Amino acid sequence: MPTSRIDATHDAALTSWVASANAEGSEFPIQNLPFGMVRPRGSTAAFRPGVAIGDRVVDLLAACDAKVLPADVTDALRACAPGELNAFMGAGRAVRVALRRALSQALSTGSALQAQLQPCLTDQASCEHALPCRIGDYTDFYTGIHHATTVGKLFRPDNPLLPNYKWVPIGYHGRSSSIGVSGQRFRRPLGQLKGGADAPQLGASQRLDYELEVAAFIATPNDLGSRVSMADAEEHVFGLGLLNDWSARDVQAWEYQPLGPFIAKNFASTVSPWIVTLEALEPFRAPWTRAADDPQPLPYLDSAANRERGGFDMQLEVWLQTDAMRAAGEPATRLMESNFRDAYWTVAQMVAHHSVGGCNLQPGDLLGSGTQSGPLPGQGGSLLELTQGGREAIALPNGERRTFLQDGDTVVLRARCERAGFRSIGFGDCAGMVMPAAAAG
Ligand code: MN
Repeated sequence: MPTSRIDATHDAALTSWVASANAEGSEFPIQNLPFGMVRPRGSTAAFRPGVAIGDRVVDLLAACDAKVLPADVTDALRACAPGELNAFMGAGRAVRVALRRALSQALSTGSALQAQLQPCLTDQASCEHALPCRIGDYTDFYTGIHHATTVGKLFRPDNPLLPNYKWVPIGYHGRSSSIGVSGQRFRRPLGQLKGGADAPQLGASQRLDYELEVAAFIATPNDLGSRVSMADAEEHVFGLGLLNDWSARDVQAWEYQPLGPFIAKNFASTVSPWIVTLEALEPFRAPWTRAADDPQPLPYLDSAANRERGGFDMQLEVWLQTDAMRAAGEPATRLMESNFRDAYWTVAQMVAHHSVGGCNLQPGDLLGSGTQSGPLPGQGGSLLELTQGGREAIALPNGERRTFLQDGDTVVLRARCERAGFRSIGFGDCAGMVMPAAAAG
């Protein structure tokens, strides 16, 4: 893991000829430049790779045709299969940095390339998104210790945090086929519900929940049988987004032992439309610490650089808009906020651990962080925590109450990075909506 890589693309004084990118509070100033897959709304054409700037998006293949990008960048983008970004992601950091520098210069105020690049831009409002890459495999970690402790108390009052937690970056292999991009609508899942009864019954989940997570996307692969060291771990990471790991708590409570989540989590997961690169996140790195009275990580999970800057100072929020709020024209209300810098394990540790047995990671693979709850009451990253297992409903501004999600509820995850001396950046909304269940009969 390298030391700081701040360069001219991070200069807070840099502005763009795309005026909306310079607006106070824009999530996509010229210092961000995140990647997504877009096409005109309602089109049946293949999705195309794009980079967000203000309220517009640069069509990268059009920029190649306009000869605005260096040859190695153009080659890497053209190597992508139609509708995918994976080959570019797998091409590694150097070409990603070359694209960032070229776009930063071409989009900056006064650039001689403005006239060439301008026709390659479209309005984000006229576009629809696909997943930002093809996600071959999805692994969900459990790095939020405040979440793990609170949820552990609810499931196992006498034994909340299992003894392996502070040694092993706990995770499970998830399901990629049901991952959707922001805007995803999914049916409330059916599953076995047991509660306090003698035998379970098939029914629609009554304890449907969200989980606030950070998504890490893999860049360069590692060979099967090889493992990634802490020193190299971030070379294998493309960037970060947001992930909502929707969870059916009643199904989960009955099925989760001994092999972990299954039907309770495989019906839908939602990711944000843009991947914010590690380069864009460079100014927002944070130290990672391990309390002196906790076990220190095994050497393969430890490095001086990881302790110095392995974390990300990334403010996270969950917002809720119910059907009634939508009908009344009322905006979403914020349920909580936390910060990814409080994670018990870092992204680099997740990569090093995932590959330690020789598992090969591939471009576009998704690593979820686990629910990112803060240390304080009210900072739970799921309703399970905010309502203490459904015992204490939370009150919404319009008088509605929630223990778990109801049909028509839209949950929006948001994130923002801020640091003095730098332009702040955002991630774009990660929104998903609960639809009524199918009949259980
Ligand atoms: Mn999860």
